[in-house]
Amino acid sequence: MDMPVTYKIAVLAGDGIGPEVMAEAIGVLQRCAELDQFRVELSESLVGGAAVEATGKALPEDTLSNCEASDAILFGSVGGPKWEKLPPNEQPERAALLPLRKHFNLFANLRPALCLPELSAASPLRSDLVQGGFEILCIRELTGGLYFGQPKGTRIERGETVAVDTMVYRKSEVERIAHLAFQIARLRKRKIVSVDKANVLENSLLWRAVLKEVALAYTDVELTHMLVDNAAMQFIRAPKTFDVVVTENLFGDILSDELAMLTGSIGMLPSASLGTGQHGNYRFGLYEPSGGSAPDIAGKGIANPIAQILSVAMMLRYSFSLNDAAARIESAVRKTIAKGLRTKDIWSEGTVLVSTKEMGLEIRANLDH
Ligand code: NAD
Repeated sequence: MDMPVTYKIAVLAGDGIGPEVMAEAIGVLQRCAELDQFRVELSESLVGGAAVEATGKALPEDTLSNCEASDAILFGSVGGPKWEKLPPNEQPERAALLPLRKHFNLFANLRPALCLPELSAASPLRSDLVQGGFEILCIRELTGGLYFGQPKGTRIERGETVAVDTMVYRKSEVERIAHLAFQIARLRKRKIVSVDKANVLENSLLWRAVLKEVALAYTDVELTHMLVDNAAMQFIRAPKTFDVVVTENLFGDILSDELAMLTGSIGMLPSASLGTGQHGNYRFGLYEPSGGSAPDIAGKGIANPIAQILSVAMMLRYSFSLNDAAARIESAVRKTIAKGLRTKDIWSEGTVLVSTKEMGLEIRANLDH
């Protein structure tokens, strides 16, 4: 008999609700591994404020070397009021997450905006627009564009202050995110909307041309183009018509928040940041909830663990190609919600209020059927 494959995962729970929701996500992962016959080797490290307390650094060397020795990173969240007075460069988010993204060249950020049918009342959109729920996957380029282009700075010109940011994309940078988007679309509805501003920006002309060129290798996937201002409107007018959306860094930063808001439940939304590198046979990635450390509810046992649990599903799908196992977890989440269980953030009249732990245990139990 073949030995089951072992996946090495660095577990960085972090601060606030991080450790509480991570415990439930690990429980789900371990049960899923039993059912789908793979093995996980988990290795925990300190990160964020917790690491500052213990070592003086938000991303200690030990933590980084643990991540380097792993196939993927499962991340909780970092930060909180206790560390807000640190200098900007030592703040947990800036000093832990940004260096991790840079170190592992995490160039693509995936944020699904998932609105389950039972939770569609939480959406700020009119009920007829969201009835039956929706799921839009926003793929954002994360390492190029306006945030990083040179020259960048502020200077005095003829007695006046002038600020300059530069938007730069190389063809190779657009190609790699385009290939990723098409590969992901093949796991879904085979439909991509590429968002740009091709009526104004040179960068967008390149973006659109490269998307069209890459599309020739994926004739089974439908590609359409949309201007960013129009996309911002169409998401609100007809969210159910979208599946995969791919866009550059700045547009993605803004649109992914708009999409998250359309679902109305931040505690439900996972995210993935994927790298260029292969670790062994696997695509390296960092998986974390879209929300933060929620200091207002930390330690109370009431946080919603679903974002962290769905981050595990994304890790299984995108780093390890364990698509059935990922689908098993997603389906267990859907079943648990359909049974009426709710943490406080998604509770409504007529549903059953449960703790973080109870939600985790029920999702774990629902993995079997
Ligand atoms: P937040 O996402 O932590 O919280 C916003 C609101 O959403 C709060 O009311 C919170 O209770 C609620 N919420 C978030 N996740 C939830 C969950 N799983 N279950 C139930 N409710 C949930 O954002 P914030 O308040 O702006 O930031 C708090 C701290 O988190 C700050 O220190 C910030 O720097 C940090 N942060 C970290 C990350 C990260 O680690 N990637 C991301 C964003 C913010």
